Amino acid sequence: MANNPLQKYFRQPKISVSLPSKGLFYERGVLAGDYNNVPIFAMTGMDEIIFKTPDALFNGEAVTKVVESCCPYISDAKKVPSLDIDTLMIAIRIATFGPKMTIEQTCKNCGEENQYEINLSNLLDYFKDLTFSTQVQVNSELSLKIRPLSYEEMTAVATENFKLQKMLYQTIELPDDQKQTQMDQIYAQLAELQLELYLMTIEAVQIPGEQVTDKNMIREWLQNADREVYQQIKDKLESNKEVWSIPKQHVNCASCGTADDIQITMDQSNFFV
Ligand SMILES: [Zn+2]
Repeated sequence: MANNPLQKYFRQPKISVSLPSKGLFYERGVLAGDYNNVPIFAMTGMDEIIFKTPDALFNGEAVTKVVESCCPYISDAKKVPSLDIDTLMIAIRIATFGPKMTIEQTCKNCGEENQYEINLSNLLDYFKDLTFSTQVQVNSELSLKIRPLSYEEMTAVATENFKLQKMLYQTIELPDDQKQTQMDQIYAQLAELQLELYLMTIEAVQIPGEQVTDKNMIREWLQNADREVYQQIKDKLESNKEVWSIPKQHVNCASCGTADDIQITMDQSNFFV
């Protein structure tokens, strides 16, 4: 549509953000422009409707659609490194509704229903200062070369995990003679899912004098590693995940002063309304 007289009333970028990935880990063509200065638009009315569809939110479709709508530098949000998703979503939230978000939380001590005001800009600053380390030292001999998952990969793992956890919960209803068998099967599937996750993340294993990149060899090693080594890998990857999650907000009850933490999550119902 050439020369639409309404064009000057189209939305304009509201803020710009710096991507914590520093533009690394993107496939060619997914991110255009300077990672340090990514323009973010407010959501359209259509975007907001997408977020009110619970299924879309769960399978990640709402996130990818809205990122592509509000961030023209990103052509395929499924391929965005998971490291950047929280930053992009927080930035879109700020561009649409402003930096302040009110969260209600009842005090564990006195029952006061507190309303805490969170400044989301602080969270952008937190992510901006992080660096994803691709090197994980497991012990004196072993180190891993890792990469962040894409949003698509992360969502697939989370969806599968949710499905298995739900199946596990449903075993309560089974008669005792079937329960254990079913539970064992689900635990085996959960262990397999975790292994798949590690294999996606681990690009290479460095051992003295050699680097192993063959995924089948890495799989075989993980399956045959000492429990202790496996636990070390697990701990390292989990602490990495923790660092890259939205930090807890420390608050104090307005009535009795008791300290409490608030965990902000993007899938909480009030994030995009
Ligand atoms: Zn209190």
